[in-house]
Amino acid sequence: MPAITPHIQGLHAYTPGLQPQSSGWIKLNTNENPYPPSPKVHSAILAELGTDATSLRLYPEPISRQLRATVASLNGLKESQVFFGNGSDEVLKYLVWAYTDGTLKAAMLDPSYSLYPVLTGIKNSSIIQVPLSRSMELPVDKLINSGANLILITQPNAPTGVAFPLNDLRALVAKTQSLVVIDEAYSAFADETAVPLLAEFDNVCITRTFSKSHSLAGLRIGYVMGCHKIMDTLDRVRDAYNLDRIAQAAALAALEDSHYFLDTIQKIKTTRDDFRSAIEKLGWFIFPSKANFVFVEPRNSKGENNASVAQAFYHYLESKKILVRYFGNNPFTSAGLRITIGLPHEMNLVVKTFAEANI
Ligand code: PMP
Repeated sequence: MPAITPHIQGLHAYTPGLQPQSSGWIKLNTNENPYPPSPKVHSAILAELGTDATSLRLYPEPISRQLRATVASLNGLKESQVFFGNGSDEVLKYLVWAYTDGTLKAAMLDPSYSLYPVLTGIKNSSIIQVPLSRSMELPVDKLINSGANLILITQPNAPTGVAFPLNDLRALVAKTQSLVVIDEAYSAFADETAVPLLAEFDNVCITRTFSKSHSLAGLRIGYVMGCHKIMDTLDRVRDAYNLDRIAQAAALAALEDSHYFLDTIQKIKTTRDDFRSAIEKLGWFIFPSKANFVFVEPRNSKGENNASVAQAFYHYLESKKILVRYFGNNPFTSAGLRITIGLPHEMNLVVKTFAEANI
């Protein structure tokens, strides 16, 4: 057998949430959007395919130029300040490739998106985890003192859904020479974005995804906005044709249908806030989420909340064919469940199921 590089041999793959192949599940475990994409996406995909899919003979436009131009104009940026990827995971991977190595480290918050350590593991670089407290204040000085070259912040954070104030992010970017990546995978569901920072600083970039906000997780489309120099760096490491024709056509149509986008986002935010009130009525703790998911700490009939109670609720929901996410290997998250916001009737069913539990 050929040798495998030692750091890859010891690597653990990222564990995504379950994607059940059987039907009948209420799937609230991977933060997908419960609404279909805009009908214009459907038409754009059919138009791209034509009658015989002949367009697929040809490679796609290599840099997703139309998409870069559209995102730039929507955010008051230049085309050279936008880069598209095969999901924002790919964009994050390129950032880790370009800005970390055996000497240049990354830093992240704990808890946060568990893909980041996998990406630094693949690159054989290291990542420093800076703990968050339950007050969810951004530990600006600890992040800076970590000495990392790349600081990855999920905003709003996962799995709590809590958003950091823009001024705290500004303070972080202002005080460091390192590159701060603000992962806005869920910012469409929040009240503010970090885009204003792009006009103030060169050491910040913002990643986003179409997976949640535009109901296109199945197509893999993400992007990053930042200064030209960072985008140019990413263009040097990316696959030549990293976004396929169908994804480019669909993403463009999704961006153009802003009315549909805003309407869907508003519905999800309303459902989220109603769900939070219902959970609080049960007397359970739930973080004030600005994302399309919430983090709930369930209580048993004795009023106890701990890891075994959370696990019992996870399995109980699973037995009712409701799939949520349990992160048991982190003491911060082991007593709670992360629940994606689905359709209103699905969330009502979750509340009813919780209320009827005999745990
Ligand atoms: N960032 C965060 C914080 C996420 O939770 C996710 C989804 N797992 C992503 C990025 C990746 O999104 P995409 O589907 O665009 O790769």
